[in-house]
Amino acid sequence: MLEKDILKILVTPEEIQQAVDRLGEQLTKDYEGKEVVVVGILRGAAIFMADIIRSMDTYLEIDFMDVSSYGEAFESSGEVRIIKDLASSIEGRHVLIVEDIIDSGRTLKYLVDLFHYRKAASVRICTLLDKKARRVVKGIEPDYIGIDIPDEFVVGYGLDYKQKYRNLPYIGVLKPEVYQ
Ligand code: 5GP
Repeated sequence: MLEKDILKILVTPEEIQQAVDRLGEQLTKDYEGKEVVVVGILRGAAIFMADIIRSMDTYLEIDFMDVSSYGEAFESSGEVRIIKDLASSIEGRHVLIVEDIIDSGRTLKYLVDLFHYRKAASVRICTLLDKKARRVVKGIEPDYIGIDIPDEFVVGYGLDYKQKYRNLPYIGVLKPEVYQ
């Protein structure tokens, strides 16, 4: 039923799984012997978060933060608002931020600065998707990238349009008429 709204599939479930496996292997190596707090950014990263932590064979804790910089529009406003903060302190701890997608980079810049201010031992970024062409903020580069995608608005695997389509098992582009 949802499929009738999809113009094309950009990333298949198999490609997502491959990216998760590759990242999981790397993260397992990099965090071996370290205690890491994996911070999922709601709501978009919820599904990727569930997969990525299960691909990491290391001791870890999870936490979540909900921030908003988009509203219902396509453009990030530049202003980031905390809707839900972390449940635990990250002082002296290694933080791995898990994001669905990096676009302008504004959301991550805000979070990285905030976590440094809160005295995290280290802050790294893991994103499923990277839209490099859209970067506005300099100096914010993800440490772990699943898949580079072109400058298109995508939905599925956690990503929404007006809160819908998060449950699609792939990453796709909507038909223009859906926006009208
Ligand atoms: P940034 O602050 O990097 O501009 O935006 C990051 C956030 O914008 C992401 O966490 C995501 O919620 C949203 N976003 C950016 N590009 C897309 C996109 O193509 N599709 C969807 N659904 N959300 C996007």
